[in-house]
Order: sequence, then C-alpha cells, then structure tokens
Amino acid sequence: MPIYEYRCDGCWLVFSYFFRSVRAAETGAPPQCPECGSVEVQRLISAAAVLSNDPVAEARARESAQPAPSPLYGRKEIQEQMRQERNRRSIARVDGE
Ligand SMILES: [Zn+2]
Repeated sequence: MPIYEYRCDGCWLVFSYFFRSVRAAETGAPPQCPECGSVEVQRLISAAAVLSNDPVAEARARESAQPAPSPLYGRKEIQEQMRQERNRRSIARVDGE
C-alpha cells in the first residue's frame, strides 16, 4: 500500500495519504487537506514510501520529503549581498574622485 505525502497550498500542512494501490495513486483524484479541506495540494515527489517494517527506511523517506525552504529567503540574501556590493563600489568611486 503506497503512502504519499502532500503539502497543502492553502495552509502548508504536510500530510500523508494512503492509497489502495499505486494505480489509484497515479490516476485518482488528489486527496483533500485534512486541515482546511482544500484540494489544492502538491505531492511531495520523493515521499513515495511503501509500508515496511523498516523504521529507518521510513524515517529516511520522511526526511527527504520535507519541503524545500522558501526561495524568497535565498533571493533576499542575494539582494542584500548585491546591495552591499553596490555600496562598496560607490564608496570606492567617491574615494577616487
Ligand atoms: Zn490545508
């Protein structure tokens, strides 16, 4: 029985969903968010895990299923770096004049 993990686009809840079969998972309707009822959910690609008696393998699958950090955070840091770089350049220009 395959388990997939989903992340709700509405409230960002990450939840597991059990399908009766892989075929049902691939062709069936996406599950509803148990928190807010939204069907706007994203399947976490690497999260496909088959129920097993190996808790280590299952934990590993869950770890890799964590959503990526928001790209906005990285962009902000890059912008901050660019801002500092610009400041350095303008200071250098002032010194040269
Ligand atoms: Zn939700």
